[in-house]
Amino acid sequence: MAEILEFPGFIDVHVHFRDPGIPEAETTASGLASAARGGFGAVVTMPNTLPACDSVELLDYQRKIPSPVALYPSVAITKGRNGKELVDMEALAEKGAAFFTDDGSYVSDDKLMEEAMFRAAKLGMCVADHALDPRIVGSGVIRDCPLARRAGLAVIPASAETEAIRRDISVCRTTGCALHIQHISTAEGVALVAAAQREGLPVTAEATPHHLLFACDELEMDDANFKMAPPLGTKEDRCELRKAVKEGSLMFATDHAPHPARTKTVGFARSANGIIGLEIAVASTYSVMVLEEGMDVDAWARAWWEMPRKVLSKAVLSDLDRLRPVTRVTAGEVKRTDVSSFASLSRNCPYDGMEFDGWPQAR
Ligand SMILES: [Zn+2]
Repeated sequence: MAEILEFPGFIDVHVHFRDPGIPEAETTASGLASAARGGFGAVVTMPNTLPACDSVELLDYQRKIPSPVALYPSVAITKGRNGKELVDMEALAEKGAAFFTDDGSYVSDDKLMEEAMFRAAKLGMCVADHALDPRIVGSGVIRDCPLARRAGLAVIPASAETEAIRRDISVCRTTGCALHIQHISTAEGVALVAAAQREGLPVTAEATPHHLLFACDELEMDDANFKMAPPLGTKEDRCELRKAVKEGSLMFATDHAPHPARTKTVGFARSANGIIGLEIAVASTYSVMVLEEGMDVDAWARAWWEMPRKVLSKAVLSDLDRLRPVTRVTAGEVKRTDVSSFASLSRNCPYDGMEFDGWPQAR
């Protein structure tokens, strides 16, 4: 028997709407329509638009479309996300930015990251990091796995993530600034975050549906719909991610990353990173975590609505408290994913035909 469950509005703290930049992949309007169909009450857009969201003008530009889903832009840490010069953090905080991140780019300069986190801490804001050190990633596109060896694909070692997380946690310890690790993918990274949380540091992290569903050692074909940054982990990584979500150490976020077919169908080595996820996020995480892993359904929901609040600015939280969105989920009814029906303008994902329970009502 299907049952309707009702929760405070789910919040996705990690979406890419390609506006301004690549409107054929996603506009703010199509991204919000995708989020509404995915059952979300609010989304946080990433600043790796073209140009990067590093100014008050671009922050305002993204907030212009009316929608049943609230949109809160995050803003860059550095100008143009170039990793060299900090943005006007005080002005952007004042104008209601959700948090700071150079998502898509790791801030490699330790001193600059420290200064950013000192200033963010003073503002009571969180700094989120795409913890993947490009100096270790090199030309890698996938973790070591049978497909990588068979297809001769350059490998990304797990240390690209774990060294970045180690550095970030050490800056968090020095500055006291709230730190959020985006899309965590390795067992060791999960352990580092859990240890920091036990130490009492203000550290949060997110797991994406794709890192919870798939593993690199199960990949059979050179299909770029499984290419993302960070790359899919091993089965062991996936197991630790699921455990950490169940134990309440990680929240969910999609890293919804639309791309036009022309940049996503040119093989693993050359295709862009990332897949769309807003319209399967709720059902896929419900199916994996509640039905397969036996996670308590309220704890699962809190990883979508309560935990994400920890990374949001006071301005965003007070707006959310005013709006009080609601997310409704139908439990006990399995449906097949039909990617052709998505509201997103992009189709880059491997979910077509997959069966999930726990589909959200569109908002
Ligand atoms: Zn991202």
